[in-house]
Amino acid sequence: MADKADDARMQCCIVGGGPAGMMLGYLLARAGLRTVVLEKHADFLRDFRGDTVHPSTLRVMDELGLLDEFLRRPHQKLEVIGGWFGDRHVQLGDFRGLPKRYAFIAMMPQWEFLDFLADEARKLPDFMLRTRANVTGLIEGEGGVAGVRGSSSDGDFAIRADLVVGCDGRHSTVRDAAKLPVEDVGAPIDVLWFRVRRDPAEIDSSLARIAPGHFVVTIDRGDYWQCAFVIAKGGADALRRRPIEEFRAQVVHAGPVLAAHIDEDVRSWDDVKLLTVAVDRLTQWSKPGLLCIGDAAHAMSPIGGVGINLAIQDAVAAANLLAIKLRAGTVTAADLDAVRERRLWPAKATQVAQVGIQNNVLVPVLGGANAELEVPLPMRIVTRVPALQRLMARLLGMGVRPEHVRSPAL
Ligand SMILES: Cc1cc2nc3c(=O)[nH]c(=O)nc-3n(C[C@H](O)[C@H](O)[C@H](O)COP(=O)(O)OP(=O)(O)OC[C@H]3O[C@@H](n4cnc5c(N)ncnc54)[C@H](O)[C@@H]3O)c2cc1C
Repeated sequence: MADKADDARMQCCIVGGGPAGMMLGYLLARAGLRTVVLEKHADFLRDFRGDTVHPSTLRVMDELGLLDEFLRRPHQKLEVIGGWFGDRHVQLGDFRGLPKRYAFIAMMPQWEFLDFLADEARKLPDFMLRTRANVTGLIEGEGGVAGVRGSSSDGDFAIRADLVVGCDGRHSTVRDAAKLPVEDVGAPIDVLWFRVRRDPAEIDSSLARIAPGHFVVTIDRGDYWQCAFVIAKGGADALRRRPIEEFRAQVVHAGPVLAAHIDEDVRSWDDVKLLTVAVDRLTQWSKPGLLCIGDAAHAMSPIGGVGINLAIQDAVAAANLLAIKLRAGTVTAADLDAVRERRLWPAKATQVAQVGIQNNVLVPVLGGANAELEVPLPMRIVTRVPALQRLMARLLGMGVRPEHVRSPAL
Protein backbone atom coordinates (compact mmCIF):
# COMPACT_ATOMS: atom_id res chain seq x y z
CA MET A 1 0.00 0.00 0.00
CA ALA A 2 1.35 3.43 -0.92
CA ASP A 3 1.97 6.00 1.77
CA LYS A 4 3.77 9.30 2.17
CA ALA A 5 7.19 7.71 1.66
CA ASP A 6 6.15 6.07 -1.62
CA ASP A 7 4.56 9.21 -3.05
CA ALA A 8 7.32 11.70 -2.46
CA ARG A 9 10.77 11.03 -3.79
CA MET A 10 13.14 11.00 -0.86
CA GLN A 11 16.46 12.77 -0.77
CA CYS A 12 17.77 9.96 1.38
CA CYS A 13 16.41 6.50 2.12
CA ILE A 14 18.15 4.78 5.01
CA VAL A 15 17.80 1.03 5.39
CA GLY A 16 18.01 -0.09 9.02
CA GLY A 17 17.04 1.71 12.22
CA GLY A 18 20.05 0.72 14.34
CA PRO A 19 22.56 3.21 15.78
CA ALA A 20 24.02 4.16 12.36
CA GLY A 21 20.65 4.51 10.64
CA MET A 22 18.86 6.42 13.39
CA MET A 23 21.72 8.87 13.90
CA LEU A 24 22.13 9.47 10.15
CA GLY A 25 18.36 9.89 9.78
CA TYR A 26 18.32 12.45 12.57
CA LEU A 27 21.29 14.41 11.18
CA LEU A 28 20.02 14.54 7.60
CA ALA A 29 16.48 15.53 8.59
CA ARG A 30 18.03 18.17 10.87
CA ALA A 31 19.81 19.48 7.78
CA GLY A 32 16.44 19.80 6.04
CA LEU A 33 16.66 16.71 3.85
CA ARG A 34 13.56 14.56 3.20
CA THR A 35 14.71 11.38 4.88
CA VAL A 36 13.07 8.05 5.55
CA VAL A 37 14.46 5.30 7.79
CA LEU A 38 13.13 1.81 7.03
CA GLU A 39 13.32 -0.67 9.90
CA LYS A 40 12.17 -4.26 9.48
CA HIS A 41 11.15 -4.75 13.10
CA ALA A 42 8.04 -3.27 14.69
CA ASP A 43 9.83 -1.38 17.48
CA PHE A 44 13.10 -1.02 19.34
CA LEU A 45 11.99 -3.10 22.30
CA ARG A 46 14.29 -5.98 21.56
CA ASP A 47 17.47 -7.08 23.19
CA PHE A 48 20.03 -5.53 20.92
CA ARG A 49 23.72 -5.95 20.91
CA GLY A 50 25.40 -3.20 22.75
CA ASP A 51 24.59 -1.06 25.73
CA THR A 52 27.87 0.80 25.81
CA VAL A 53 27.41 4.46 24.93
CA HIS A 54 30.98 5.72 24.89
CA PRO A 55 32.28 9.27 25.50
CA SER A 56 32.59 9.81 21.72
CA THR A 57 28.82 9.30 21.36
CA LEU A 58 28.08 11.37 24.48
CA ARG A 59 30.09 14.20 22.94
CA VAL A 60 28.08 13.96 19.71
CA MET A 61 24.88 14.16 21.77
CA ASP A 62 26.29 17.20 23.55
CA GLU A 63 27.19 18.91 20.28
CA LEU A 64 23.59 18.32 19.18
CA GLY A 65 22.30 19.86 22.41
CA LEU A 66 20.70 16.56 23.41
CA LEU A 67 22.99 15.22 26.13
CA ASP A 68 21.08 16.32 29.24
CA GLU A 69 17.80 15.00 27.89
CA PHE A 70 19.49 11.79 26.74
CA LEU A 71 20.91 11.10 30.18
CA ARG A 72 17.40 11.26 31.68
CA ARG A 73 16.88 7.82 30.14
CA PRO A 74 17.73 4.90 32.47
CA HIS A 75 21.42 4.09 32.47
CA GLN A 76 24.36 3.22 34.70
CA LYS A 77 27.57 5.24 34.67
CA LEU A 78 30.79 3.30 34.31
CA GLU A 79 33.77 5.47 35.21
CA VAL A 80 36.36 2.71 35.43
CA ILE A 81 36.42 -0.60 33.60
CA GLY A 82 37.96 -3.80 34.74
CA GLY A 83 37.36 -7.47 35.22
CA TRP A 84 38.28 -10.66 37.01
CA PHE A 85 40.99 -13.00 35.78
CA GLY A 86 40.22 -15.85 38.16
CA ASP A 87 40.67 -14.26 41.58
CA ARG A 88 42.80 -11.37 40.30
CA HIS A 89 41.15 -8.09 39.46
CA VAL A 90 42.47 -6.10 36.53
CA GLN A 91 41.65 -2.45 35.95
CA LEU A 92 42.05 -1.45 32.34
CA GLY A 93 40.49 1.96 31.87
CA ASP A 94 39.74 5.06 33.90
CA PHE A 95 37.49 7.58 32.15
CA ARG A 96 37.66 10.22 34.87
CA GLY A 97 40.45 12.09 33.05
CA LEU A 98 38.13 12.95 30.14
CA PRO A 99 36.09 16.19 30.05
CA LYS A 100 33.55 15.95 32.87
CA ARG A 101 30.40 15.71 30.74
CA TYR A 102 31.67 12.55 29.01
CA ALA A 103 33.94 11.08 31.65
CA PHE A 104 32.14 7.72 31.68
CA ILE A 105 30.48 5.03 29.61
CA ALA A 106 26.68 5.27 29.80
CA MET A 107 25.42 1.70 30.05
CA MET A 108 22.04 2.18 28.45
CA PRO A 109 19.90 -0.60 26.94
CA GLN A 110 20.02 -0.05 23.20
CA TRP A 111 16.23 0.22 22.88
CA GLU A 112 16.33 3.30 25.12
CA PHE A 113 19.08 4.80 23.01
CA LEU A 114 17.28 4.18 19.70
CA ASP A 115 13.93 5.21 21.10
CA PHE A 116 15.44 8.48 22.25
CA LEU A 117 16.89 9.20 18.80
CA ALA A 118 13.58 8.30 17.17
CA ASP A 119 11.67 10.66 19.49
CA GLU A 120 14.06 13.52 18.73
CA ALA A 121 14.03 12.80 14.99
CA ARG A 122 10.20 12.75 14.85
CA LYS A 123 10.23 16.40 15.97
CA LEU A 124 11.86 17.25 12.62
CA PRO A 125 9.41 17.83 9.75
CA ASP A 126 11.56 16.09 7.14
CA PHE A 127 12.05 12.84 9.07
CA MET A 128 10.03 9.70 8.65
CA LEU A 129 10.51 6.31 10.33
CA ARG A 130 8.74 3.33 8.81
CA THR A 131 8.78 0.22 10.95
CA ARG A 132 7.85 -3.30 9.79
CA ALA A 133 9.45 -2.29 6.48
CA ASN A 134 11.73 -5.08 5.32
CA VAL A 135 13.93 -4.04 2.41
CA THR A 136 14.45 -6.91 0.01
CA GLY A 137 16.19 -5.31 -2.96
CA LEU A 138 17.39 -2.23 -4.78
CA ILE A 139 15.81 -0.29 -7.64
CA GLU A 140 18.42 0.24 -10.33
CA GLY A 141 18.14 3.36 -12.48
CA GLU A 142 20.21 4.64 -15.36
CA GLY A 143 22.61 6.54 -13.13
CA GLY A 144 22.95 3.81 -10.50
CA VAL A 145 20.84 2.84 -7.49
CA ALA A 146 17.57 4.78 -7.53
CA GLY A 147 15.71 3.39 -4.51
CA VAL A 148 14.66 0.28 -2.62
CA ARG A 149 11.94 -2.35 -2.72
CA GLY A 150 10.56 -4.22 0.19
CA SER A 151 7.60 -5.69 1.96
CA SER A 152 5.66 -4.52 4.97
CA SER A 153 2.50 -5.50 6.81
CA ASP A 154 0.67 -3.23 4.34
CA GLY A 155 2.07 -5.05 1.31
CA ASP A 156 5.00 -4.48 -1.00
CA PHE A 157 6.53 -1.01 -1.31
CA ALA A 158 9.00 0.83 -3.52
CA ILE A 159 10.74 4.02 -2.46
CA ARG A 160 12.79 6.17 -4.79
CA ALA A 161 15.57 8.31 -3.37
CA ASP A 162 18.57 10.37 -4.48
CA LEU A 163 20.71 8.31 -2.10
CA VAL A 164 20.18 4.94 -0.43
CA VAL A 165 22.28 4.28 2.68
CA GLY A 166 22.65 0.70 3.89
CA CYS A 167 22.70 0.79 7.70
CA ASP A 168 21.27 -2.71 7.96
CA GLY A 169 24.03 -4.29 9.98
CA ARG A 170 26.24 -7.32 9.72
CA HIS A 171 23.83 -9.35 7.57
CA SER A 172 23.15 -6.43 5.27
CA THR A 173 20.67 -7.07 2.47
CA VAL A 174 21.73 -3.81 0.84
CA ARG A 175 25.40 -4.69 0.51
CA ASP A 176 24.49 -8.13 -0.84
CA ALA A 177 22.04 -6.67 -3.35
CA ALA A 178 24.66 -4.14 -4.45
CA LYS A 179 27.27 -6.91 -4.71
CA LEU A 180 29.81 -4.88 -2.77
CA PRO A 181 32.94 -6.95 -2.14
CA VAL A 182 33.41 -8.20 1.45
CA GLU A 183 36.74 -9.04 3.08
CA ASP A 184 36.28 -11.52 5.95
CA VAL A 185 38.62 -10.67 8.82
CA GLY A 186 37.55 -13.65 10.94
CA ALA A 187 35.91 -14.02 14.33
CA PRO A 188 36.72 -17.19 16.28
CA ILE A 189 33.93 -16.57 18.82
CA ASP A 190 30.16 -16.48 19.24
CA VAL A 191 28.14 -15.30 22.19
CA LEU A 192 25.32 -16.77 24.26
CA TRP A 193 23.08 -13.99 25.58
CA PHE A 194 20.86 -14.27 28.68
CA ARG A 195 19.78 -12.41 31.81
CA VAL A 196 20.26 -13.15 35.47
CA ARG A 197 18.75 -11.18 38.33
CA ARG A 198 21.15 -8.87 40.17
CA ASP A 199 21.05 -8.22 43.89
CA PRO A 200 20.60 -4.48 44.48
CA ALA A 201 23.26 -4.58 47.22
CA GLU A 202 25.91 -5.98 44.83
CA ILE A 203 28.80 -3.51 44.58
CA ASP A 204 30.98 -5.33 42.04
CA SER A 205 29.94 -4.19 38.57
CA SER A 206 32.96 -5.59 36.71
CA LEU A 207 32.31 -6.18 33.04
CA ALA A 208 34.45 -9.24 32.37
CA ARG A 209 34.87 -12.44 34.39
CA ILE A 210 37.29 -15.11 33.31
CA ALA A 211 37.99 -18.63 34.61
CA PRO A 212 40.05 -21.32 32.85
CA GLY A 213 38.08 -22.26 29.73
CA HIS A 214 35.24 -19.79 30.36
CA PHE A 215 34.56 -16.11 29.88
CA VAL A 216 31.39 -14.22 30.73
CA VAL A 217 30.65 -10.53 30.24
CA THR A 218 28.28 -9.11 32.86
CA ILE A 219 26.56 -5.86 31.91
CA ASP A 220 25.01 -4.20 34.95
CA ARG A 221 21.45 -3.18 34.02
CA GLY A 222 20.44 -2.27 37.55
CA ASP A 223 18.12 -5.05 38.66
CA TYR A 224 19.59 -7.67 36.34
CA TRP A 225 22.83 -8.66 34.67
CA GLN A 226 22.77 -8.84 30.91
CA CYS A 227 25.22 -11.69 30.34
CA ALA A 228 27.26 -12.60 27.30
CA PHE A 229 28.95 -15.99 27.61
CA VAL A 230 31.72 -16.21 25.02
CA ILE A 231 32.16 -19.55 23.24
CA ALA A 232 34.37 -20.83 20.42
CA LYS A 233 32.78 -20.18 17.02
CA GLY A 234 30.32 -22.87 16.01
CA GLY A 235 30.32 -24.41 19.49
CA ALA A 236 26.70 -23.57 20.34
CA ASP A 237 25.05 -26.71 18.92
CA ALA A 238 27.28 -29.07 20.87
CA LEU A 239 26.72 -27.06 24.03
CA ARG A 240 22.94 -27.02 23.54
CA ARG A 241 22.89 -30.81 23.32
CA ARG A 242 24.17 -30.92 26.90
CA PRO A 243 21.88 -30.39 29.92
CA ILE A 244 21.30 -26.76 30.89
CA GLU A 245 22.77 -27.51 34.33
CA GLU A 246 26.20 -27.97 32.74
CA PHE A 247 25.93 -24.61 31.05
CA ARG A 248 24.90 -22.91 34.27
CA ALA A 249 27.87 -24.46 36.06
CA GLN A 250 30.27 -23.15 33.39
CA VAL A 251 28.81 -19.67 33.67
CA VAL A 252 29.06 -19.63 37.45
CA HIS A 253 32.62 -20.95 37.23
CA ALA A 254 33.56 -17.74 35.39
CA GLY A 255 31.10 -15.45 37.19
CA PRO A 256 30.37 -16.57 40.77
CA VAL A 257 28.38 -13.33 41.18
CA LEU A 258 25.65 -14.98 39.04
CA ALA A 259 25.28 -18.05 41.26
CA ALA A 260 22.40 -16.79 43.42
CA HIS A 261 19.75 -16.47 40.68
CA ILE A 262 20.94 -18.33 37.60
CA ASP A 263 18.90 -21.48 38.38
CA GLU A 264 15.63 -19.50 38.41
CA ASP A 265 16.46 -17.22 35.48
CA VAL A 266 18.11 -19.67 33.08
CA ARG A 267 15.73 -22.59 33.38
CA SER A 268 16.20 -24.06 29.92
CA TRP A 269 17.99 -23.41 26.65
CA ASP A 270 14.96 -21.28 25.64
CA ASP A 271 16.32 -18.61 27.98
CA VAL A 272 19.63 -18.47 26.10
CA LYS A 273 20.00 -16.79 22.72
CA LEU A 274 22.86 -17.33 20.29
CA LEU A 275 24.40 -14.18 18.82
CA THR A 276 26.87 -14.90 16.06
CA VAL A 277 29.93 -12.68 15.83
CA ALA A 278 31.41 -11.56 12.52
CA VAL A 279 34.34 -9.29 11.77
CA ASP A 280 34.51 -8.19 8.15
CA ARG A 281 34.68 -5.08 6.00
CA LEU A 282 33.76 -3.96 2.53
CA THR A 283 36.58 -3.01 0.22
CA GLN A 284 34.16 -0.68 -1.58
CA TRP A 285 31.49 1.09 0.50
CA SER A 286 29.57 2.80 -2.27
CA LYS A 287 28.43 2.86 -5.87
CA PRO A 288 26.44 5.59 -7.60
CA GLY A 289 23.30 6.29 -5.56
CA LEU A 290 24.31 3.97 -2.69
CA LEU A 291 26.50 4.00 0.41
CA CYS A 292 26.98 1.54 3.29
CA ILE A 293 28.07 2.56 6.79
CA GLY A 294 28.19 1.00 10.27
CA ASP A 295 28.26 -2.78 10.52
CA ALA A 296 26.98 -3.02 6.94
CA ALA A 297 30.37 -1.60 5.89
CA HIS A 298 32.48 -3.16 8.67
CA ALA A 299 30.97 -5.74 11.05
CA MET A 300 32.45 -5.30 14.52
CA SER A 301 33.16 -7.85 17.23
CA PRO A 302 31.65 -7.14 20.68
CA ILE A 303 35.18 -6.72 22.11
CA GLY A 304 35.60 -3.31 23.72
CA GLY A 305 31.92 -2.49 23.23
CA VAL A 306 32.84 -0.12 20.43
CA GLY A 307 30.58 -1.16 17.52
CA ILE A 308 27.62 1.11 18.17
CA ASN A 309 29.93 4.04 18.77
CA LEU A 310 31.80 3.45 15.53
CA ALA A 311 28.46 3.23 13.72
CA ILE A 312 27.48 6.63 15.21
CA GLN A 313 30.83 8.12 14.15
CA ASP A 314 30.25 6.85 10.59
CA ALA A 315 26.84 8.52 10.58
CA VAL A 316 28.29 11.83 11.78
CA ALA A 317 31.04 11.68 9.13
CA ALA A 318 28.57 10.77 6.37
CA ALA A 319 26.28 13.68 7.30
CA ASN A 320 29.26 16.07 7.51
CA LEU A 321 30.48 15.07 4.07
CA LEU A 322 27.17 14.69 2.25
CA ALA A 323 24.35 16.80 3.75
CA ILE A 324 25.02 20.03 1.87
CA LYS A 325 25.73 18.26 -1.42
CA LEU A 326 22.61 16.13 -1.06
CA ARG A 327 20.59 19.29 -0.57
CA ALA A 328 22.08 20.76 -3.72
CA GLY A 329 21.61 17.45 -5.57
CA THR A 330 25.28 17.34 -6.53
CA VAL A 331 26.54 14.18 -4.77
CA THR A 332 29.11 12.38 -6.92
CA ALA A 333 30.67 8.92 -6.68
CA ALA A 334 33.80 10.61 -5.32
CA ASP A 335 31.75 12.29 -2.55
CA LEU A 336 30.38 8.92 -1.51
CA ASP A 337 33.82 7.36 -1.54
CA ALA A 338 35.08 10.18 0.68
CA VAL A 339 33.05 8.59 3.52
CA ARG A 340 35.03 5.36 3.12
CA GLU A 341 38.28 7.30 2.91
CA ARG A 342 37.51 9.05 6.18
CA ARG A 343 36.13 6.09 8.13
CA LEU A 344 38.05 3.06 6.81
CA TRP A 345 41.11 3.74 8.89
CA PRO A 346 39.25 4.01 12.25
CA ALA A 347 37.26 0.87 11.44
CA LYS A 348 40.35 -1.06 10.37
CA ALA A 349 42.45 0.04 13.36
CA THR A 350 39.64 -0.93 15.75
CA GLN A 351 39.18 -4.31 14.09
CA VAL A 352 42.93 -4.99 14.29
CA ALA A 353 42.80 -4.29 18.05
CA GLN A 354 39.71 -6.50 18.45
CA VAL A 355 41.28 -9.38 16.54
CA GLY A 356 44.48 -9.02 18.63
CA ILE A 357 42.46 -9.39 21.84
CA GLN A 358 40.40 -12.25 20.36
CA ASN A 359 43.49 -14.20 19.38
CA ASN A 360 45.79 -13.39 22.29
CA VAL A 361 43.39 -13.35 25.23
CA LEU A 362 40.07 -15.04 24.39
CA VAL A 363 41.21 -17.98 22.28
CA PRO A 364 43.87 -19.14 24.82
CA VAL A 365 41.35 -18.82 27.67
CA LEU A 366 38.55 -20.66 25.82
CA GLY A 367 40.89 -23.34 24.52
CA GLY A 368 42.26 -23.99 28.00
CA ALA A 369 45.79 -22.98 26.89
CA ASN A 370 45.86 -20.40 29.68
CA ALA A 371 44.88 -22.93 32.38
CA GLU A 372 47.01 -21.17 34.96
CA LEU A 373 45.04 -18.05 34.15
CA GLU A 374 48.07 -15.91 33.92
CA VAL A 375 47.09 -12.28 33.43
CA PRO A 376 48.69 -11.14 30.15
CA LEU A 377 51.67 -8.83 30.73
CA PRO A 378 50.14 -5.73 29.06
CA MET A 379 47.08 -6.04 31.35
CA ARG A 380 49.28 -6.36 34.43
CA ILE A 381 51.19 -3.23 33.45
CA VAL A 382 48.01 -1.21 32.78
CA THR A 383 46.52 -2.35 36.10
CA ARG A 384 49.56 -0.98 37.92
CA VAL A 385 49.90 2.35 36.09
CA PRO A 386 46.96 4.78 36.51
CA ALA A 387 48.23 7.05 33.71
CA LEU A 388 47.97 4.11 31.30
CA GLN A 389 44.41 3.44 32.46
CA ARG A 390 43.50 7.03 31.58
CA LEU A 391 45.21 6.64 28.20
CA MET A 392 43.35 3.38 27.51
CA ALA A 393 40.07 5.04 28.46
CA ARG A 394 40.75 7.89 26.06
CA LEU A 395 41.58 5.48 23.22
CA LEU A 396 38.59 3.26 23.90
CA GLY A 397 36.14 6.01 24.78
CA MET A 398 36.89 8.54 22.05
CA GLY A 399 38.00 6.00 19.44
CA VAL A 400 40.35 6.61 16.56
CA ARG A 401 39.65 9.85 14.66
CA PRO A 402 36.60 11.04 16.63
CA GLU A 403 34.11 13.10 14.62
CA HIS A 404 32.52 16.45 15.44
CA VAL A 405 29.06 17.34 14.18
CA ARG A 406 29.56 19.76 11.28
CA SER A 407 26.43 19.08 9.22
CA PRO A 408 24.05 22.05 9.20
CA ALA A 409 20.84 22.40 11.21
CA LEU A 410 17.95 24.09 9.43
C1 LIG B 1 27.08 -10.48 20.46
C2 LIG B 1 27.42 -9.05 20.16
C3 LIG B 1 27.50 -8.15 21.21
C4 LIG B 1 27.86 -6.81 20.96
N1 LIG B 1 27.97 -5.95 22.01
C5 LIG B 1 28.30 -4.65 21.77
C6 LIG B 1 28.40 -3.71 22.84
O1 LIG B 1 28.20 -4.02 24.02
N2 LIG B 1 28.69 -2.42 22.52
C7 LIG B 1 28.90 -2.01 21.23
O2 LIG B 1 29.18 -0.81 21.01
N3 LIG B 1 28.82 -2.88 20.21
C8 LIG B 1 28.52 -4.19 20.45
N4 LIG B 1 28.43 -5.06 19.39
C9 LIG B 1 28.62 -4.55 18.04
C10 LIG B 1 27.35 -3.75 17.64
O3 LIG B 1 26.22 -4.58 17.81
C11 LIG B 1 27.39 -3.29 16.18
O4 LIG B 1 28.67 -2.83 15.82
C12 LIG B 1 26.38 -2.13 16.00
O5 LIG B 1 25.09 -2.55 16.40
C13 LIG B 1 26.34 -1.66 14.56
O6 LIG B 1 25.31 -0.71 14.40
P1 LIG B 1 24.56 -0.56 12.99
O7 LIG B 1 23.56 0.52 13.18
O8 LIG B 1 25.56 -0.46 11.93
O9 LIG B 1 23.83 -1.98 12.76
P2 LIG B 1 22.76 -2.76 13.64
O10 LIG B 1 22.83 -2.35 15.07
O11 LIG B 1 22.95 -4.20 13.33
O12 LIG B 1 21.36 -2.26 13.09
C14 LIG B 1 20.87 -2.70 11.86
C15 LIG B 1 19.39 -2.44 11.82
O13 LIG B 1 18.91 -2.73 10.51
C16 LIG B 1 17.72 -3.48 10.59
N5 LIG B 1 17.62 -4.26 9.35
C17 LIG B 1 18.39 -5.30 8.98
N6 LIG B 1 18.05 -5.74 7.76
C18 LIG B 1 17.04 -4.94 7.36
C19 LIG B 1 16.25 -4.90 6.17
N7 LIG B 1 16.45 -5.77 5.17
N8 LIG B 1 15.27 -3.98 6.07
C20 LIG B 1 15.05 -3.08 7.08
N9 LIG B 1 15.76 -3.09 8.22
C21 LIG B 1 16.75 -3.99 8.35
C22 LIG B 1 17.90 -4.31 11.85
O14 LIG B 1 16.67 -4.77 12.36
C23 LIG B 1 18.60 -3.32 12.78
O15 LIG B 1 17.67 -2.55 13.50
C24 LIG B 1 28.11 -6.39 19.62
C25 LIG B 1 28.00 -7.32 18.56
C26 LIG B 1 27.68 -8.62 18.83
C27 LIG B 1 27.61 -9.60 17.69
